[in-house]
Amino acid sequence: MADFGGDLEAFRAEARGWLQANFPASLRRGAPTGADPEASETPTEDQELWRRRIGEKGWGTPTWPTEHGGGGLTAAQARVLQTEMARIGAPNPIGGMGVGMFGPTLLEYGNDEQLRRHIPPIVKGELRWCQGFSEPNAGSDLASLQTRAEDMGDHFLVNGQKIWTSGAHLADWCFCLVRTDPKAKKHEGISFLLIDMHSPGVEPRPIRLINDTTPFCETFFTNVKVPKENLVGPLNGGWTIAKRLLQFERQGIGSPARVGQAGPGVLAGPPIETLAKSYVGVDDEGRLMDADLRARLTSHLMESKAHALTGERIALEAKSNRGPTAASSIMKNAGTLLRKEKAELAVEILGHQGLGWSGEDFTEGEINAMRVMLRSKSGTIAGGSQEVQNNIIAKRILGLPDTTHST
Ligand SMILES: Cc1cc2nc3c(=O)[nH]c(=O)nc-3n(C[C@H](O)[C@H](O)[C@H](O)COP(=O)(O)OP(=O)(O)OC[C@H]3O[C@@H](n4cnc5c(N)ncnc54)[C@H](O)[C@@H]3O)c2cc1C
Repeated sequence: MADFGGDLEAFRAEARGWLQANFPASLRRGAPTGADPEASETPTEDQELWRRRIGEKGWGTPTWPTEHGGGGLTAAQARVLQTEMARIGAPNPIGGMGVGMFGPTLLEYGNDEQLRRHIPPIVKGELRWCQGFSEPNAGSDLASLQTRAEDMGDHFLVNGQKIWTSGAHLADWCFCLVRTDPKAKKHEGISFLLIDMHSPGVEPRPIRLINDTTPFCETFFTNVKVPKENLVGPLNGGWTIAKRLLQFERQGIGSPARVGQAGPGVLAGPPIETLAKSYVGVDDEGRLMDADLRARLTSHLMESKAHALTGERIALEAKSNRGPTAASSIMKNAGTLLRKEKAELAVEILGHQGLGWSGEDFTEGEINAMRVMLRSKSGTIAGGSQEVQNNIIAKRILGLPDTTHST
């Protein structure tokens, strides 16, 4: 990449030129990105072409190091690129847990061989990753996990069960927490292991949700052989790596962009205030007819704005480039509550039309609004529940006394 010497306008011109030449026009605005780890749709030819091109360029992971295929851009350049892509409606097809959670963690903790092997396919969007942390008896109290990895000399033998493994049925790899020392204190006997999901003995069983999708699985491991080189960091040192990964996860879940997108259908269409005016109607002065709804909607919009501005401030203040901190728990709680509120407001605004499940009486957007609303509730649990984030905020940010061992 050319060195722009901090000249962002020169970089903007370069980015525009490259996008003009490489982004297929057929994908402008509204096209599915294929980046959702839970999505199973087959990409179109142009989507595939776009993924390959941006993957080769490294701009799907713009700030990752060039030596592993990333874009090597500064945070400021990456923001310019993002603006330019948004301007022409170009989605980033490189995403999922590999980009948002595992990749940044591996860049901090992986050895050279692991980086050479695993980062380039993530940069190019070639492989999907899933997260094997939670178990039936280990959620908030994650360190109680029991999935065992026994040292067999030249490999580990893994046995146990994970649950709520998002996208496990579609994933190629799993970053997994396993117990490698059952006798040690519970936080000190855990390791961070990479498991090939195509290995014999791995069996993901999809779980159907209230909104009629099957985004996550129970995942069973029965005598799964895992090569020793798949251990990340020290043996029994997985807890520190897991905590770091959770910060990346919470940063992603709580990002203002997620609140803005808030799912498919109605919520990804016109702004919610426009939706309200068209479904609920306006008074003579052009104000939303229902005064109570107007007040609640205004309050929601103000909080969303404050959340977005806080997100921008955090990004600008992160000059040290050390990534997320415990503050990601604040953004996670605020962001997921806003998403939930927005989805509930949308269903309320649609009135009867918001209660449709299927059929010709409802538009696709109206049907999706209900499904998005049901799904939106899970955000306050995934990645660590609301209450557990409050514990982290109390302990690590406010310095209050703590008696729990939450992650
Ligand atoms: C949509 C979705 C996707 C997910 N994807 C994944 C995934 O890909 N991989 C993965 O490993 N896991 C995944 N999870 C699991 C998620 O991390 C857990 O659900 C979460 O950590 C909570 O654990 P639990 O469900 O066992 O609830 P529990 O830990 O049993 O908690 C039950 C209730 O008790 C409260 N509680 C528990 N401990 C405390 C405490 N110390 N103080 C106060 N309150 C407490 C909780 O807040 C909660 O309200 C996903 C979950 C969801 C909803």
